[in-house]
Amino acid sequence: MDITTSVLTPNTHVVVLDLDGTLYNKSGMIGEMMLLGIGQWWRLLAERKTRKAFRGQYLGCEELFYSTYYRAIANRTAFSEKYISNWYQNTYMPMMVEVIRRWHQPMAWVVPFAKACHEKGVKLVVLSDYGHAKEKLQALGLDLQSFDWVVSAPELGGLKPAPQLMHHIADRMGVTPQQCLVIGDREDTDGDMARAVNAKFCLVGLCNNVT
Ligand SMILES: [Mg+2]
Repeated sequence: MDITTSVLTPNTHVVVLDLDGTLYNKSGMIGEMMLLGIGQWWRLLAERKTRKAFRGQYLGCEELFYSTYYRAIANRTAFSEKYISNWYQNTYMPMMVEVIRRWHQPMAWVVPFAKACHEKGVKLVVLSDYGHAKEKLQALGLDLQSFDWVVSAPELGGLKPAPQLMHHIADRMGVTPQQCLVIGDREDTDGDMARAVNAKFCLVGLCNNVT
């Protein structure tokens, strides 16, 4: 279903967009990652399990988040924290970007919605739970100038649905969290984050039902 500015209320000053599964359809991605990452599936599995365990955690800053995160992945594998850090930043994330570049396109509503928001003076923030958010948007062929701020949750010190992420965004954009609308594909991350700070939430696919 297309998302239009009908999801905005008079009190919406900032739209916080999730990236993966929201700006593009990510179905098939696990298989595509496995295809490009043949020989790495133990690391991929360890990362996924660690991500689940870290859901909603907030560690205060990027450096502490990543060092704790890499250590936790390393503990699930036979690799060192340093090796995992290098693998995550220089192999895993670029591989995710490459999968998007090869096999995915932005949802048809994204560009017109961004344009309409700018015309209405509503700011757009992209908040991804993964790193390399700008590279992913570029891999989708989107213009970074379409967004007022592109940031990853780890850069802010945690993972969704930590409410601190929304406080960071609201502070940076000069609004209250209640003046934000979160659009995302997951109730348990995007939705819970919005609800934790009384922001509006729109689940992709059900956007005639903003809560
Ligand atoms: Mg998502």
